[in-house]
Amino acid sequence: MTVLDSSIRYLNGVGPVKASRLERLGVRTLGDLLFFFPRRYEDRRRIVSLKDLQADTVAASIVTVVSTDSRLSVKKRISLTRAIVSDGHGLASALWFNRKGLDRLLTSGTRLALYGKVAKEGGMAQFVAPEFEILGEDEVPVQIGGIVAVYSLTAGLSDRWLRKIIHRLLDQVLPELEDHMPESLLRDLDLEPLGPAIREMHCPVSPESWKRARRRLAFDELFMLQVGLAIRRRSVGELRGAPRLPLGGPLRRKIEHSLPFELTEDQSRVLAEIGRDMSSDVTMNRLLQGDVGSGKTAVATLAMMQAVDGGTQAALMVPTSILAQQHAIRLRSFLEPHGVKVGLLTGGLSAKERKALLKEIAEGSIDLVIGTHAVIQEDVVFRRLGLIVIDEQHRFGVLQRGALGGKGEMPHVLVMTATPIPRTLALSVYGDLSVSVIRTMPEGRIPVKTRWIGDHKVDDLYGFLDSEMDRGRRIFWVCPLIEESEHLNARPLEERFDFLVRRFGSERVSMLHGRMSMEERRSVMEEFASGESPLLASTTVIEVGVDVPEATVMVIEGAERFGLSQLHQLRGRVGRSDEQSWCFLLGKPGTQDGNRRLEAICSSSDGFEVAEADMAIRGPGEICGTRQHGLTDFKVADLIRDEDLLTLARRIAIDMVGRDPNLDSIPAVKEMVFRMYREKLELAGTA
Ligand code: ADP
Ligand code: MG
Repeated sequence: MTVLDSSIRYLNGVGPVKASRLERLGVRTLGDLLFFFPRRYEDRRRIVSLKDLQADTVAASIVTVVSTDSRLSVKKRISLTRAIVSDGHGLASALWFNRKGLDRLLTSGTRLALYGKVAKEGGMAQFVAPEFEILGEDEVPVQIGGIVAVYSLTAGLSDRWLRKIIHRLLDQVLPELEDHMPESLLRDLDLEPLGPAIREMHCPVSPESWKRARRRLAFDELFMLQVGLAIRRRSVGELRGAPRLPLGGPLRRKIEHSLPFELTEDQSRVLAEIGRDMSSDVTMNRLLQGDVGSGKTAVATLAMMQAVDGGTQAALMVPTSILAQQHAIRLRSFLEPHGVKVGLLTGGLSAKERKALLKEIAEGSIDLVIGTHAVIQEDVVFRRLGLIVIDEQHRFGVLQRGALGGKGEMPHVLVMTATPIPRTLALSVYGDLSVSVIRTMPEGRIPVKTRWIGDHKVDDLYGFLDSEMDRGRRIFWVCPLIEESEHLNARPLEERFDFLVRRFGSERVSMLHGRMSMEERRSVMEEFASGESPLLASTTVIEVGVDVPEATVMVIEGAERFGLSQLHQLRGRVGRSDEQSWCFLLGKPGTQDGNRRLEAICSSSDGFEVAEADMAIRGPGEICGTRQHGLTDFKVADLIRDEDLLTLARRIAIDMVGRDPNLDSIPAVKEMVFRMYREKLELAGTA
C-alpha cells in the first residue's frame, strides 16, 4: 500500500460527487489519476494582442475588464454576459452564455487571461464563450499561456477543474514518488526519470520534452508486459504433464493416404512441427496461421488422428454451428469407416441427446468431439483429452489456458487463424506461442477476381449468374444485416430472396439465415452443395469455413457495410477449385474508410496484404481481438508507432529475467508486473 493506492476522495477539492464521476472514467486512486493522461493538448503559448485577433481562429490574450453587462435573451431564454476588455493596444469583447453571476465576478479592472474562439461582432473581435482565468496583479496564468492538457471527460467534470486537481496532485505526490526503474537502466537507455515524465505529460513545456516523457512512459508499459511474458515463458516452458502422443500411428497414416489430394509442402511442414510438439509431454501451445482456403482443416484432422492414435480424444472448436455441422458431416463420412467415432455437440441438441452424448464423451467411446466454442467450454468432461483444436478463423483472440481448464489433464493446444498477426503484436502478446505458417495455397488455385460494380451493371451480372449456373456452378449471394441482431431483422435478405426467385426461378434459389433451425440449415446447405439448388441467398452465417468447391461466384450486397477481414473471409468461400472464381461487390460509395476497404479488397486477393490494409485503417489491437483482453490497451504506448521501443523492451526484459529469474534486483518492477499481469498472464508465484 502506497500513497498512490489511496482513494481520490482524500484529495483536496474532490468531493463524493466528483469522485464518483471520476470513477466512471476508471479513476479510483491517486495513482489512477496520476496516470490519467490527456487525450490531446492545446498550444496556448502564444499570447495574441487584441488588435491582432483574427476571426475564426482560436486565441489566447491577457486583458483587463473595462465593463460588463448581463441580459436575458427573451426568445432563447438564455442569459448572456458580455464583457468589454482591453489590453492597452486594442479593445475586444467576450461573450458567455448562462453564466449567472459572472458579471459580478468580472468587475471593471479585473485582470483576465482569455482563451477561445474568436468571431467578429459589429466590427469588433469577440471571444465566444472563452475559458478564462482571473489573475492577480503580477500573476501569470496557469491554464492559459502554456501547452494545456485536454482530457477525455464525462458530464459534470471540466478540464479546467481537472487540471487544477492534477496540478495539486503532482505537487503533492511527485516529490515522494520513487522510480521503479533502476537508475543504471534509465541512464543506459537515455530515459527520463518517472516523476518529471509524468509531470510533463500533464503539463508539457514543449513538444520536444513531451516526446521524451512519452517515450519513457511508453517504454514502461511495453517493458512491464514483456517482463510478464518472459516470466510466463519460463514457467510455461516447464509445463509438463501433457500426454505423449507419438508420431507414426496407424490411423493417421491411413487417413493421410485416403485424402483426395496430396498435402502441399507447407501442410506437411506444419504437420511435422505440430506432430513433434505433440509427441512430447511439454504441452503444445501452437498457432497455425494460414490464409482462407490454405487447407488448415486437413492439417487439423491429421493432428487429431495422432491424438486418437495415442489413445486420447480430440476436440475441434469452431466459431459457428453451421461450420460445426459441416465438419461433422464431412469428418464422419471420412473417419467413421476407419472406426473413429465423431460426436457433434451443439446448442441444437435436445436435453436427452445432449446427456447421452456427454456420457459417451466422458466414457471415451467418442474419439473426436466437434462443437462451437461456447458449447465445448461449458461442462464437457472428457475421459482423456489429448488435443484441442481451436478454429478461430479471423476472430482471433488471445489463447487462454485457463479457459480450457478441466478439459483433461493438460491437452495440447492448436489454435488456427486466418489472420496474419503483425510482428509487433506477435512479439508483445503471443511471445510464448510457437507459430506455424502455411504460406502457399494448394496447387492449381486461381486467384479470385474481385470487382466492385455499380447499379447500372447489375443486369449484366444476372446474365453472368445464369451462365455460371448452366455450367453447374454454385453462387453465394450475401446480404448485410441492417439491424444489430440477426434475430430481429432479415428483411433485406428476404426481399432479395423474393427478387432472386422471380428472376431465376424458385427451384434454383434457396435462403439461409441464423433464425432457421439446425435441421433447416443443414438441408439447405446440402441442397446447395449437391447443386440441387445452386443459388444461395444468405446472411453472413456462411462467412467462415463453409467449403463448397463448386461455388465460383460470391456476390456481396451492401459491401460497404462489411469490414475488410469479413469481406476477405466471405470471398474465401469461392476460389476453392481450379476454376476461375469471381467476387462481385455491390455497394454505394460510402464513407472514406468504406471506399478504402472496397478498393483494398479489389486490389488484392492475398490475406496478408488485406490484413495490412486493415491494420492501416483500423489499428492492430482491434483486428486481433487483443484489445478486449486488456493486454495491449496501453495508455501511452502504440504498437505501430513504437515498434522500435517494443523490440528494445523485449530484449531487455528477456535479458533481465534470464540473468535474474526471481527479479531480486528489481523488486519494484516485479511488484508492478505482478500487479498488472498476474491474472491476465496467469503468472505463478508472488511478487
Ligand atoms: P482453410 O484453411 O480456410 O480452413 P480448408 O481447410 O477449408 O481451408 O481447405 C480449403 C479447400 O482446399 C478444401 O476444399 C480442401 O479440401 C482443399 N484442400 C486442402 N488441402 C489441399 C491440397 N493439399 N490439395 C488440394 N486441395 C486441398
Ligand atoms: Mg477453415
